[in-house]
Amino acid sequence: QSANPTSPFWNRDQQTKYHVHDLPLFHAMGGNTVQEMELFIPPGLTPLERWLSITARPLRDAQGRLTGAVAVVRDISDAKRAELALRESEERYALAARGANDGLWDWDLRSNQVHFSPRWKAMLGFTEDELTTNPDEWFQRVHPDDIERLTTGLAAHQHRLDSHFEYEYRIQHRDGVYRWMLSRGLAVWDDMGRALRMAGSQTDITVRKQFEEQLLHAALHDSLTGLPNRALFLDRLGQVLNHTHRNPNYRFAVFFLDLDRFKVINDSLGHAVGDQLLITIANRLRECLRPGDTIARLGGDEFTVLLEGVHDAQAAHEIAERIQRTLAAPLHLGEQQVYTTTSIGILLGHSEYHTAAEIVRDADIAMYQAKMKGKARAVVFDPTMHIKVVSHLQMESELRTALEEGQLRVHYQPIVALDTGQIEGVEALVRWQHPQQGLLTPGSFLAVAEESGLIVPISWWVLREACQQLHIWQQEIPAAQALWVSVNLAPQQLAETDAVTTIRTILQESGLAPTCLKLEITEHTLVEYGEATAQAIAKLRQDGVQLCIDDFGTGYSSLSYLHLLPADVLKIDRSFISRMGERTDRTEIVHTIIALARALGMKAVAEGTETATQADELRRVACDFGQGWLFSKPVDAEALAKLVRTGHSLFTTPAPVMEPLAA
Ligand code: C2E
Ligand code: MG
Ligand code: MG
Repeated sequence: QSANPTSPFWNRDQQTKYHVHDLPLFHAMGGNTVQEMELFIPPGLTPLERWLSITARPLRDAQGRLTGAVAVVRDISDAKRAELALRESEERYALAARGANDGLWDWDLRSNQVHFSPRWKAMLGFTEDELTTNPDEWFQRVHPDDIERLTTGLAAHQHRLDSHFEYEYRIQHRDGVYRWMLSRGLAVWDDMGRALRMAGSQTDITVRKQFEEQLLHAALHDSLTGLPNRALFLDRLGQVLNHTHRNPNYRFAVFFLDLDRFKVINDSLGHAVGDQLLITIANRLRECLRPGDTIARLGGDEFTVLLEGVHDAQAAHEIAERIQRTLAAPLHLGEQQVYTTTSIGILLGHSEYHTAAEIVRDADIAMYQAKMKGKARAVVFDPTMHIKVVSHLQMESELRTALEEGQLRVHYQPIVALDTGQIEGVEALVRWQHPQQGLLTPGSFLAVAEESGLIVPISWWVLREACQQLHIWQQEIPAAQALWVSVNLAPQQLAETDAVTTIRTILQESGLAPTCLKLEITEHTLVEYGEATAQAIAKLRQDGVQLCIDDFGTGYSSLSYLHLLPADVLKIDRSFISRMGERTDRTEIVHTIIALARALGMKAVAEGTETATQADELRRVACDFGQGWLFSKPVDAEALAKLVRTGHSLFTTPAPVMEPLAA
């Protein structure tokens, strides 16, 4: 018998002594006459923490009367504690398994029976009474792709090749849906090293797996557009490349796309619009390509497309054209209507490539060539392009040096009043005094300057230089008092937040009156930078700086912009002037442009006036100014100063009678 000393049968009155008044034990022995029994507990022990076992026997006299009892009291606290601890640990484990939602399995390997816990069954949608002890209840439900590794894993542990068994696999629920489970187990071996039994747990990890899949998806996709990212694209491309290595006749193509106006839109209309643009572009790409084609966003405005089964350049070009057409349609982003063209590098894949990265690099190179050739086009890669890229990169670094070490020059081309032949203004044009190649015109380095962004510091430098130079002339040459200078601005310049301040500072530092400065921006810039440009221009015009629309007629219909953004001078593109006289309708176009300029209160400049015939025609249609080789090529500052000093008329042919302009 054992009794808990804290029970009411025991009455503690001092630390080491207990009186037994009334114990069922003694009653049973008929010992109700026993008044008292003392228990001595060894000093130093806290009775409350002790478990005692008491065995008692009554003592009777010769007549059989109960006179007392002999009791043996054993301290069983240690054993009791161990038992409690065991029970607790079992309970704890059971609780943990239940709390963790784990199912348990116990596999008798000799009889090949598996006992599945109710929870194990419930995890697969079965009740306690369902499923037999056949191991197939388990293994036949495992996903065909996972079963082999699961059974190998189990066997490896049973044969002690693996110190533990732990495996994640899919198993089919009663509802037919596969769930992810994690199974862990441990085997017990006999002396001979044969596994006798193996038991373990099963945890449902479906949610974790789904989360992992989401993470994986996030790691392999672009969060903005949801398209595969560079890593996934390279992976897929690598697979196709492997396929090509096995089947050398297999063909594929990789397109490298870059939006021609993304930076402009992003800078001028803000990142929200830029993001919206990218999302729309991604959707359009999805729509115009087949579901099997892989479209990826590599970052920024760079997209790649992997097209399998594309055999030749012709087919690739057709697809590229389709993409370009689709992407070129105007986009309505909020209140803005924007559009962008796309440059595409095409790479026709073949088995001689070793890595996916090489393929993407070459497609990128082809795209770069497409940009260099004037954007909005598709160019097929050929190996000589590597050399071009290297030379472009070399030029970029040389150009940087040129800017830093003062190899750049400004040449000036007179702008002549057509009625008098007098120089009224000059256009500042950048030149590069290249240490080996001599004097270079922008045609040979502008593309690199634009692509690298160097065009911005270069153009600021030209502006500063031109303003200083004109101010010097105005002080030194009386005939230069009213001379003005026209300076080309790169599209990105006016989009700089402090563009207005920069220009004002340049004017102040050079001492040039703002009214003597005209800024030339192209129609493209006007359309592309719309808002940002308009605000800067409006401020500068208040200062007296004038605005020229350069290369007018070559861009998009920017008449609406002309209306929004008042300009002072319209420079008619050279292409119109050179074709004048060829056919009368060409002259008519020029005539019309001049009429338009007049109607909007602007002066007209005819760019690229090369012949006296052209000049005569221009004068006839009342064009205000001419600029071109007929009068003078762009010349250095010294030569220009000479031209101004002499004050000769640069256009002396007698003028025909001017016709009044048609209204
Ligand atoms: P643009 O602003 O339209 O300048 C006129 C171009 O036409 C100049 O070419 C000039 O030399 C050329 N030209 C002038 N008269 C004639 C002619 O009678 N016949 C022919 N065939 N051409 C003529 P250039 O100097 O090679 O400059 C080319 C372009 O480079 C410029 O076109 C301008 O857009 C750009 N550019 C030049 N300097 C700068 C600069 O400092 N900053 C920026 N952003 N662009 C510049
Ligand atoms: Mg110009
Ligand atoms: Mg021009």
